[in-house]
Amino acid sequence: MPEVVAYIGLGSNLENPQMQVESAIDELAGLPETALRSRSSLYRSAPMGPQDQPDFVNAVACLETTLPPQALLQGLQAIEQRHGRVRAQHWGPRTLDLDILLYGQYMIDTEQLKIPHPGIAQRNFVLYPLAEIDSRLDIPGMGKVQELLAQRSAAGLTRLEQTPGAAQ
Ligand code: ATP
Ligand code: CA
Ligand code: CA
Repeated sequence: MPEVVAYIGLGSNLENPQMQVESAIDELAGLPETALRSRSSLYRSAPMGPQDQPDFVNAVACLETTLPPQALLQGLQAIEQRHGRVRAQHWGPRTLDLDILLYGQYMIDTEQLKIPHPGIAQRNFVLYPLAEIDSRLDIPGMGKVQELLAQRSAAGLTRLEQTPGAAQ
C-alpha cells in the first residue's frame, strides 16, 4: 500500500475519559506501519442518543499509514478491546470508541466499513477537532471541513485546556 493520511475520531465517557483518549493516541502512534502526524486538542461534548450518560471527551488524530483500511480498523478494534470496550447499548457509554473518519480520499461503503465516516457532517465534536488539524481538508462526497463546520453550531461542545505534557 502507498502511504495514506488517515484521520481517526476518538471518544470516551467512562473511567477517566481524558486519560483513555490520551493513551489511545499514544497507542495509535504505536500501530504497525503507522506514524502520528498530528492531533487535535481534547473536547468535551454532550452525548448523542441516550442522554442518561456522562459527557464525552473527544479528539481527532491524524495518522500516516501503509496499513490497508480493514487492517487499520482491526488495529483500532484491538485498542478498543484493550481499553475494556463493551458493546452494549447503541451510542451508549463506552471507555473508548475509535472511528476511521477519513482514509486519504478513498470512499468505501461496505457493511463493515464506511469511509468517509457517515456521521462527520452532523457531528460538531468531529468537525471542530478536524478543522483544528486542517480546516481546508476535503471530505470526499461531503465538502470542505470549514464549510461543513459553518453549518454546525458548537452547542454542547467545549475545548479543554491543553493537558500538561501532552504531545502536540
Ligand atoms: P457511529 O459509527 O455512528 O459513530 P459507533 O461508533 O457507536 O457509532 P460502533 O458500535 O463502535 O458504532 O461500531 C459498529 C461497527 O461500525 C463496527 O463494528 C465497524 O465494523 C463499523 N464501521 C463502519 N464504518 C466504520 C468506520 N469508518 N470506522 C469504524 N467503524 C466502522
Ligand atoms: Ca463513533
Ligand atoms: Ca465506532
